[in-house]
Amino acid sequence: MNMPTRQLPRSLWAATACPAPAYTQPRAEMTADVAVIGGGYTGLSTALHLARKGHKAVILEAAEPGWGASGRNGGQVIAGMKATIGELAGLFGQDAAHRMVANMGGSADLVFSLIERYGMNCHAVRSGWLQAAHGPKPYRDLVVPRYEQWRSLGVAAELLNASETASALGVAASPYHAAWRDPRGGVLQPLSYARELARAALSEGVEILAYTPARRLQQDGAGWVIAADGMTLHAGQVVLATNAYTGAGSESLWPGLERALIPVTSFQMATHPLDERYDHILPAGMGVTDSRRLLLYFRRDHQKRLVMGGRSPVEDSPTFADAAPLQRAVQGLFPELGLPKPEFVWSGKVAITKDRLPHIHQPAAGLHVFMGCNGRGVGLCTMMGKMLADLACGVPAADVPFPVTVPDSFALHGLRKLGVYALSQYYRLLDKMEAAGRLR
Ligand SMILES: Cc1cc2nc3c(=O)[nH]c(=O)nc-3n(C[C@H](O)[C@H](O)[C@H](O)COP(=O)(O)OP(=O)(O)OC[C@H]3O[C@@H](n4cnc5c(N)ncnc54)[C@H](O)[C@@H]3O)c2cc1C
Repeated sequence: MNMPTRQLPRSLWAATACPAPAYTQPRAEMTADVAVIGGGYTGLSTALHLARKGHKAVILEAAEPGWGASGRNGGQVIAGMKATIGELAGLFGQDAAHRMVANMGGSADLVFSLIERYGMNCHAVRSGWLQAAHGPKPYRDLVVPRYEQWRSLGVAAELLNASETASALGVAASPYHAAWRDPRGGVLQPLSYARELARAALSEGVEILAYTPARRLQQDGAGWVIAADGMTLHAGQVVLATNAYTGAGSESLWPGLERALIPVTSFQMATHPLDERYDHILPAGMGVTDSRRLLLYFRRDHQKRLVMGGRSPVEDSPTFADAAPLQRAVQGLFPELGLPKPEFVWSGKVAITKDRLPHIHQPAAGLHVFMGCNGRGVGLCTMMGKMLADLACGVPAADVPFPVTVPDSFALHGLRKLGVYALSQYYRLLDKMEAAGRLR
C-alpha cells in the first residue's frame, strides 16, 4: 500500500478540530522505557496510561497524531466489541470470553472519564448509541443477542420496535425493522479527541514526535532500537500501534504483520449545517450504526451537520462525485433533505482481520502489537491502550483481560483488492435480501 500524503486530509474533522498541542522536538539519541509506534487512539492511550503508572513513553508518529483512522472516523463512541460472549467462547473459552466482553463493555466509560479528567475539548456528548436492524433476520441474529447480553450484564439497554426506532431517528416511518439502544455510548469530534489525548499524554510527561516515521525496528540485547530519519530511539519495550496503516509506505517494521490484516476504505460525507427546520432529525444527538454487513453509520455534529458513513471502493482522495451512494442513503432515511450537497467528503482505512476480531500479538519478547479494530475503535482502542500499557510494564498476559494470539495471515494477500471487491458485491446482495425480508 502506498502511504498517501502525510498532511492531514481535508475533512469535517480537520476543519473543525481544536488546535494540536506543541509536539516534542526530536533529539538525535532518545531513550524510553517504552517506545510507542503510531499516534492514533491506541498509541496515545498506551502512552498516557504508561505515563500515569510512572513509565517513560515516547511516541513516534509518521504524520501528526490523529492522522490515521483516529482523526477521520465517525466519532461514535460504542461500548464493547462487535462479537458476543457466545461467539468468543468458541475461540477462547467461556471465562476468557466473559472477561473480554465485560472489560470492553467499560470502554465508553473509559473514554468519557478521560475526557472529564483532562477537560478535553472534543464536543463529547453521552447521548447513547443505536444499532438498527435492517430486516427481521439481523434483528433476530444480531440485535436481540446483543441487547440480551448487555441486559444480563446489568446495562440499561433498550429494545426499540419500528415506531420507537422511527422516533429515535426523527422520521415518520422507520426504514429499519427495529433497534437496540445502548445508553453507554455517545458521540465526539474524533480528531479533537486524538489531539486532546495527545495533550493529556504530554501533560503526564510523554514525549510525542510528529512527522517521525519509524523506519527500522531491531532487537538490541534485552531491549530495542528504533531508527527514524535523523534520530534513534532506545527502549526496553515496544508497542506497535499502526493498525490499518501498518506497513503503509515504509519498510515493514516486523515481518508478516501486514499479511494478517486487510485495510479497507470507509467513506464519509457531511452536509452543510442544517437549519432549525431539521432539528427533528436525530433529536437526541445519538450515533446510529445499522446492522448491514456493509453498514451505514450516521450522526449530527456539534454544528448540526448530518454526517453519513459507509463502505466505499474509493481510495484515499475522494471527490464530491463519490458521495452519490451516501447522498442517496441520506435521502432514503430523511426524504425531506432530498439529495443533500456534501460540504465535506473524506475517507480512512479500517483494519480487517481474518476472524474479524481485534488482536494483541507478542511476536518477540518486549514487542506488543495491536491490530484489527474491524471498524470499531474509539472506545475499543482507548481500552486497548490501557491493556497494552499493562503488558508493556510487566503485567502477565494471563492477568490482562484480552488474549494474546499469533498473527493469522490471509492466504492470497496480494489479491486482496480483488477479494474485497468480490466480497463487497456479495455482502451488498445479502444485505438487500435481508432488508427485503427474503432471507430468514
Ligand atoms: C472512516 C472511518 C470511520 C470509523 N468510524 C468509527 C466510529 O464511528 N466509531 C468507532 O468506534 N470506530 C470507528 N472507526 C474505527 C476507528 O477509527 C479505529 O478503530 C481507530 O481510530 C484506530 O486507532 P489506532 O490508533 O489503532 O489506529 P490509527 O488511528 O489508524 O493510527 C495509526 C497511526 O500509525 C501511524 N503509523 C503508521 N506507520 C508508522 C510508522 N512506521 N511510524 C510511525 N507511525 C506510523 C499512522 O500515521 C497512524 O497515525 C472508523 C474508522 C474509519 C476509517
